[in-house]
Amino acid sequence: MDLKSYIRDVPDFPKPGIIFKDITPLLGDPVAFSAMIDAFAEKYADAGIRHVCGIESRGFIIGAALALRLNVGFIPIRKAGKLPYKKIRREYSLEYGTDAIEIHADSVARGEKVLLVDDLVATGGTAEAAVALLQDIGAEIVGIAFAIELEFLRGREKFDANKFFALLKY
Ligand code: AMP
Repeated sequence: MDLKSYIRDVPDFPKPGIIFKDITPLLGDPVAFSAMIDAFAEKYADAGIRHVCGIESRGFIIGAALALRLNVGFIPIRKAGKLPYKKIRREYSLEYGTDAIEIHADSVARGEKVLLVDDLVATGGTAEAAVALLQDIGAEIVGIAFAIELEFLRGREKFDANKFFALLKY
């Protein structure tokens, strides 16, 4: 199935010069959505994963569907200030300034195998902070998986090559 045909390019969103990769046409089609989740599930079916961790907010959509397909739990990694319980935080740089993400401190047991998921890797800064959070709480990251990779931004260089995976490359 040609999943790329379900990704819509939106020029100059959210600001001039950015081509936004809009996955809503893919999510809106049950066959395409399921095919994407199946592609991830096949890759990680035998990896011994206990939780899928998704990065807010499109990582929640893919991550939650994948967690159910793999029969494991889902853990949200959220933008700062959203999680209610004891949490840890990592800051990361944006083009201008910094942002932060958080995870509940008790969400993963030490040594537990997790898969990190987001919709898209651009510079890799967001997922790099998520990797650091998971390492802070002692998780064993078995994979860092994205639906879309913008190869020209070379985000993959921030990650262990054996763990990085992207379904659709641009
Ligand atoms: P980065 O930290 O630079 O890898 O940016 C990744 C995050 O920003 C992901 O959560 C993406 O959803 C979002 N993002 C960055 N660039 C784009 C783009 N061109 N189209 C859609 N989402 C993007």
